[in-house]
Amino acid sequence: MAKFNIAVIPGDGIGPEVTESTIEVLKAVSKRSGHEFSFSEVMAGGIAIDTCGEPLPESSLTVAKESDAVLLGAVGGPKWDDLPGKSRPEAALLGLRKELALYANLRLAILFPELKSASPLRPDIVENGVDILIVRELTGGIYFGKRGLAPSDECLPDGTPKGLEAFDVETYSEAEIERILRVGFTSAMQRRKHVTVVDKANILETSRLWRKVTERVAPDYPEVAYEFMYVDNASMQLLRRPSSMDVIVTSNMFGDILSDEAGMITGSIGMLPSASLGTPGTPGMYEPVHGSAPDIAGKGIANPLATILSAALMLRYSLGLPEEGAKIEQAVRDVLSAGYRTADIVLNGETNILGTKEVTEKVIEAYEKL
Ligand code: NAD
Repeated sequence: MAKFNIAVIPGDGIGPEVTESTIEVLKAVSKRSGHEFSFSEVMAGGIAIDTCGEPLPESSLTVAKESDAVLLGAVGGPKWDDLPGKSRPEAALLGLRKELALYANLRLAILFPELKSASPLRPDIVENGVDILIVRELTGGIYFGKRGLAPSDECLPDGTPKGLEAFDVETYSEAEIERILRVGFTSAMQRRKHVTVVDKANILETSRLWRKVTERVAPDYPEVAYEFMYVDNASMQLLRRPSSMDVIVTSNMFGDILSDEAGMITGSIGMLPSASLGTPGTPGMYEPVHGSAPDIAGKGIANPLATILSAALMLRYSLGLPEEGAKIEQAVRDVLSAGYRTADIVLNGETNILGTKEVTEKVIEAYEKL
């Protein structure tokens, strides 16, 4: 039986509630499978700013780096909104991604059949279900490019002084593009074998390089069909024909935006898991797509399923226990089929509304029955 070290970063808002639930589920996995999980809880985000004066203390980073995988709740909240960029809670996420060299972010947008009517899209658009994997480049592009803010001495054509001027630079190298494309094409091989590369090649030089590299890499995956799509069109097609999308591969910023849009199609951001991966053998980071939901924090009503499903991805990708991962996913499906819901995914007329702890117990019960 194997032994795994899992670094747990509860973070802020509902983060501690959803990670606590997920640890309970992982303990049930340990009990049943015989594999041993040791959990090391560390601070990052707003709570780390309040306690240690910085969003990502070195000690937290060390524990994360030495782990087999990192489970993260969420960071941020209005309390820290006025802090400058590098001191904000979200800087912890960027720091973890950079230090763990997590260059691929996989976000699944699955519309569970039981929640079909929760989708804001017309029933005829989602009748075949939705199952989209968004592969987002995570350590390059505009979020990590050069940036600056300085007074400009220029004027607009009408003579108005420009005042302060800011810039953020988008940069991508061939090597960065190639490795993320390979994650996308490899993932597509295990799915419906279709890749959509989303860019803005009619405007951006970086996008034109993405296309060039795609043309070079794609022949290595002859079974996978691929297409290019401008990001503005992709944002429309996600609403018009989401069922036809399989794997979307795109840059950091476009992926950030499109994955939230795809998430909304599924009806609840509280259901969406994500995995961030680096080179094989290094710890991956697993977290729900949603944020810290300060509006419902501490009320015991947060939906833990996105974090629990993220742990299922952890079992698959980092711990080499795909069968246990599949069982967790099945348990979540069984709980939904039985009509149990947290408040965020409740449908008209449904009355089985459970809190965070109760729905977690249902998942564990369902898992133990499998
Ligand atoms: P959010 O995802 O926290 O919340 C958006 C809405 O969805 C809220 O109404 C919230 O109550 C609801 N919601 C989210 N997760 C839920 C869940 N599990 N169960 C039930 N309802 C849920 O997004 P936001 O309000 O834009 O951001 C709040 C804070 O979170 C901000 O400080 C933001 O920077 C931060 N944030 C962090 C991450 C992260 O840690 N990865 C991601 C996004 C936002």
